[in-house]
Amino acid sequence: LVRLRSRLSRSQNALGKGLLSLLSRDHLDEDTWEEIEDTLLTADLGVAPTQELVERLRERVKVLGTRDPAELRALLREELLRTIGTDLDRVVHTEPGVSADGAELPGIVLVVGVNGTGKTTTTGKLARVLVADGKSVVLGAADTFRAAAADQLQTWGERVGARTVRGPEGGDPASVGFDAVKEGISQGADVVLIDTAGRLHTKTGLMDELGKVKRVVEKHGPVDEVLLVLDATTGQNGLVQARVFAEVVDITGIVLTKLDGTAKGGIVVAVQRELGVPVKLVGLGEGPDDLAPFDPEAFVDALIG
Ligand code: GDP
Repeated sequence: LVRLRSRLSRSQNALGKGLLSLLSRDHLDEDTWEEIEDTLLTADLGVAPTQELVERLRERVKVLGTRDPAELRALLREELLRTIGTDLDRVVHTEPGVSADGAELPGIVLVVGVNGTGKTTTTGKLARVLVADGKSVVLGAADTFRAAAADQLQTWGERVGARTVRGPEGGDPASVGFDAVKEGISQGADVVLIDTAGRLHTKTGLMDELGKVKRVVEKHGPVDEVLLVLDATTGQNGLVQARVFAEVVDITGIVLTKLDGTAKGGIVVAVQRELGVPVKLVGLGEGPDDLAPFDPEAFVDALIG
């Protein structure tokens, strides 16, 4: 939490401070409410959530009739939290199950997203978190189109003590996914994390490939999580990508990376709304420890300082 706060505060604080100072003006006239709206839109909160939030704030400020900064801050905090959602399931599920042939099945997590969003880094960091938690992890390098991606994942694996299953360059991603889970089962591993390819040039190609990875992996048993990795700095573009992926596979959680480098934290809300799926993890830097569970309260506190 301390990390989340310090990492976010550098870039996000301006948003919260801006909102608070607008709310604390002597007269909350139409122009001020418009400025508040603009501030939220600039932070990528999205049109509908912004309008709803501003409407609720206006109503409550009116009813309370307060100009007390502490009360206004509490109000803003409450309404931001409500917008982000405090009762969503943000746990990354990796519970063991039973495989198709009756063996113990590791938790299976597919990591999907466009190249460059931080997919491989996130897979590595997540492996590290799980290993630190006492779990044994197998990595599947199902991005067989870029040898560099498999090398990068393997380096993470060596660093955290997880075996990496990879295929020949240009090989079938689905068969790497299948082999990774097979390896996980035979090792009695707790979790298998599968890093997938993220070329978006043809939607059909992606659709075929990702859908196939999931289907083939599920010959062993159910996938617990499909985590979509999105780069928080890409704004509306990221949302368009998110939509494409959601058509291909059922996303169960979002990982928002590079939140350390943007003041556009509102994207958390926009993407949740777009996909109807919670943000579960956030990337706060390039280092091995820079992946954190998404905690709405800590996030809002980092925003409004
Ligand atoms: P992939 O192509 O989606 O697998 O992306 P990579 O995992 O190779 O990451 C692309 C770049 O983004 C790398 O330079 C990462 O170090 C960087 N990166 C990943 N996550 C974060 C993050 O949360 N914050 C920052 N600042 N950089 C990140």
